[in-house]
Amino acid sequence: MPIYEYHCNKCEDDFELLVGIGAGDKSLRCPKCGGDDLKKLFSTFAARSKGAGGAVTSSGPSSCGGCSSSNCGSCS
Ligand SMILES: [Zn+2]
Repeated sequence: MPIYEYHCNKCEDDFELLVGIGAGDKSLRCPKCGGDDLKKLFSTFAARSKGAGGAVTSSGPSSCGGCSSSNCGSCS
């Protein structure tokens, strides 16, 4: 179930809402002020999965990536 981020034009607050399939924007309300003048922002679901997958596994330029030696010269 996707999470969408909304911006309330009434109280200028940003918040996240779980939006089920088939649920329209008409039923969405700001949890802070109850207003329905909302603007849908980019999904934070996509933004989070993009940032979590790019882990850097390299341990540095001087360490060998193929064996446990720090400078073996055979596997570069
Ligand atoms: Zn609001």
